[in-house]
Amino acid sequence: MKTGQDVRELGLYASDCCLEEMLFDVNDSFSRCPHCSRLCEWELVDAVVPWQDMAKLNDGGYEAA
Ligand SMILES: [Zn+2]
Repeated sequence: MKTGQDVRELGLYASDCCLEEMLFDVNDSFSRCPHCSRLCEWELVDAVVPWQDMAKLNDGGYEAA
């Protein structure tokens, strides 16, 4: 994913240039790299489970670490 593109998946992303990690949500668009302020590519590091789904998991006996 590149700077200016729409975010399709909530998650933690890392910029290709500086490996700066940022959280992007759906309906956001990818920003420039916060470290060097250049256009960059973003790679998904970790998908984030939305709070609503997290609550469902908790109801099912799931315990967050
Ligand atoms: Zn950078």
